[in-house]
Amino acid sequence: MQYVSTRGSAPALDFEGVTLAGLASDGGLYVPAEWPRFSAAEIRAMRGRPYWEIAVTVMRPFIGDSLTEDELTAICREVYGEAFHHAAVTPLVQLDERNWLLELFHGPTLAFKDIALQLLGRLFETFLERRDQRLTIVGATSGDTGSAAIHAVAGRKRSEIFMLHPKGRVSDVQRRQMTTVRAPNVHNLAIEGSFDDAQAHVKRMFTDPEVTSVLDLGAVNSINWARLMAQVVYYFASALQFGGPDRTVAYAVPTGNFGDVFAGYVAAKMGLPIERLIVATNVNDILHRALTSGDYSAGGVTPTITPSMDIQVSSNFERLLFDCGGRDGAALAEQMRGFEASRAMQLTNAQATGAAALFASHSADQVATARALQHAYQRAKQIIDPHTAVGLAAAQALADGIAADVPVVTLATAHPAKFPDAVERAIGVRPSLPARVGDLFGREESYVELAGDYAATRDFVLGHAGQA
Ligand SMILES: *Cc1c(COP(=O)(O)O)cnc(C)c1O
Repeated sequence: MQYVSTRGSAPALDFEGVTLAGLASDGGLYVPAEWPRFSAAEIRAMRGRPYWEIAVTVMRPFIGDSLTEDELTAICREVYGEAFHHAAVTPLVQLDERNWLLELFHGPTLAFKDIALQLLGRLFETFLERRDQRLTIVGATSGDTGSAAIHAVAGRKRSEIFMLHPKGRVSDVQRRQMTTVRAPNVHNLAIEGSFDDAQAHVKRMFTDPEVTSVLDLGAVNSINWARLMAQVVYYFASALQFGGPDRTVAYAVPTGNFGDVFAGYVAAKMGLPIERLIVATNVNDILHRALTSGDYSAGGVTPTITPSMDIQVSSNFERLLFDCGGRDGAALAEQMRGFEASRAMQLTNAQATGAAALFASHSADQVATARALQHAYQRAKQIIDPHTAVGLAAAQALADGIAADVPVVTLATAHPAKFPDAVERAIGVRPSLPARVGDLFGREESYVELAGDYAATRDFVLGHAGQA
């Protein structure tokens, strides 16, 4: 399988290449040159199989020659047979007559990002071993990505990670999930300033010759194709439980960078019958505006109780615009240049119509989010996290537009104990951390505090890389 850039001019790469590259050299994102397709009979044959086997089948066509059958099987067995604390990996829970939750938070850091990052950590190690290379991962996090990436890389031989977080601006649980991981190849950097400042340092490092001349840098943000690929699997696994491909299912997806919901689009392209993909946003609603009126324009970010969805622009949306817009890289590069200059653009007719065929969207404010939390608790004694509640609020708001016999599955993207204050305010019950995360609040933390300037971050990374 070959991958092409959404902006048309970067070289095509194979799966190993795109996994290690992250962003394409022309500033675009990599997508498969064509969508692999399963017949209904092939999908039916996955019914009743364990999650790791479904993962092998669904991911196989994307990986091509980059892994042997034995390597892929071993990796999926290890990641999806062992790293998750539920036999089903992503269990379904019924909420009411038509609403279900797909629990994606049974990994080590209690958010859905583990599902892809646990795999990515193993893929990096396999490819680096083969190339006899080392990789220095640098990233910035506003919360969930950082801890999931650290848990995926800690203790590995050929990769090390420098994770920047804005000092004092991530929750205690989120910070401790990063800073209590004690491994010589893990470095936590608390940076003065906002998440955007930290993110700007990371971006600059990737183009700073002082850094790139001595280190091979790797990225773990959701523009990495391998992450999206891993997320396609749970759409298949869950639809099969409802009788797919002989029955359709609708999904409501709490959305930030459009990675998780784009994986649902990929599943549909592969032949899985999906009735609707509901893009659920909080009041930071650029995607809702784009999907309802074609207006993709960035504003400021409003902080909410769902921080992982507090975004200005949504990087993976570019993949949808490419696919629905006729896969014209040169035209999209032009369109994105315009967006980068003015922070606003209008979707083309082809992009808007293509998206409307599968996607619907809804923006839920704080009141609606709290109401959805209360509904789940009163109807089914389920304590859900605020991100999941935004998804459920959207599912309920758009239910009338979906045939009554179609189950609506809300992706439960985080465990409620990651956001205990917001949950307690909504339902009066404080969720507790599951026993498996242990004494998160008793363990010693390790992180360095750095001033907000770029040079301080760069010098720390250069001074500490390659020592583990
Ligand atoms: C990252 C995250 C999201 C948003 O996912 P995207 O793939 O960026 O759209 C939603 N909820 C939680 C809890 C997250 O950590």
